[in-house]
Amino acid sequence: MQSHATEEQVRAVCQRIESLGLKPHPIPGAGRTAIGITGNSGAVDVGTLEAMPGVIECIPVSKPYKLVSRDVKEENSLVHIPTPLGDVSFGGKAVAIVGGPCAIETPEQTFTIAGHVKSAGARLFRGGAYKPRTSPYSFQGLGEPGLKILAEVRERFGLGIITEAIDNESLDLVEKYADVIQIGARNMQNFSLLKRAGRSQKPVLLKRGMSATLDEFLMAAEYILSEGNYNVILCERGVRTFSDHTRNTLDLSMIPAVQRRSHLPIVVDPSHGTGRRTKVLPLSRAAVAVGADGLLVEVHHDPDRALSDGPQSILPDEFAQLIREARDIAAVIGRTLN
Ligand code: PEP
Ligand code: MN
Repeated sequence: MQSHATEEQVRAVCQRIESLGLKPHPIPGAGRTAIGITGNSGAVDVGTLEAMPGVIECIPVSKPYKLVSRDVKEENSLVHIPTPLGDVSFGGKAVAIVGGPCAIETPEQTFTIAGHVKSAGARLFRGGAYKPRTSPYSFQGLGEPGLKILAEVRERFGLGIITEAIDNESLDLVEKYADVIQIGARNMQNFSLLKRAGRSQKPVLLKRGMSATLDEFLMAAEYILSEGNYNVILCERGVRTFSDHTRNTLDLSMIPAVQRRSHLPIVVDPSHGTGRRTKVLPLSRAAVAVGADGLLVEVHHDPDRALSDGPQSILPDEFAQLIREARDIAAVIGRTLN
């Protein structure tokens, strides 16, 4: 739409799109509103739309992904997470830091780590109440009691909460308790879960599947946006390769590749990306340097006794150091820490 197009003109175009049996997605930007169109099986006849008041041009998007593409929205999307300590934004100048244990184990364990995460300066806490584990005999997470512990973390510490939903039932609960719904690597192509997340009012953190290509990753995000939820944060967490010195290979080249094609923020998870405690700090530095919009780091005060992902969890002191160094590196590229 033209930069001075009125709300009424935007509404009229949306109605026209609907009358053609298609779905309009008005996406406000800094300068103007773009209206994405989905639901078409072939080329859309743009003639009638192009002539409407307020329309500047109709741009066919040739890529398979549309709503996530910079063709539809040129400037970065900002995803705001309200926390009792103030909003944390992904996709702006500030790099956002998220810390917490892989799994919520007990109230004591969770509160101890939350205290450390907060005093290191982070405002977002992440821990799993539902754990997608390779073995059915491994700790599967506490379920709803774990979500209640997370709700208490928000209350006691003021931290915003990110936690994973592994299926539609857990998503119903996660969206009640959490500030951000995480969809894990193993579920990146669980299309019914993606659609359900797309109908949620809460922001979604979508992890890259462990063998997903760039297009597959963006198409997974497209599922969420196509249902109307535009608050999506992407997360690079490493892919499977022949590496035998790390759990996964952290593909930092994904960050500029995504940023070129998509307006969505993208963060890096160096914990799953490496699987080794000693590699988390160096790769965190690199992630900030490459332009990531945030870091997602597993922290545990007693990692040897952690019920999941102890070997890749860093100690609270190391997390504090990571935040200090990330701040210095961010400053070099003109960014701050959130
Ligand atoms: C997690 O975040 O703890 C997790 C299971 O990660 P991923 O989905 O990236 O393996
Ligand atoms: Mn984990």
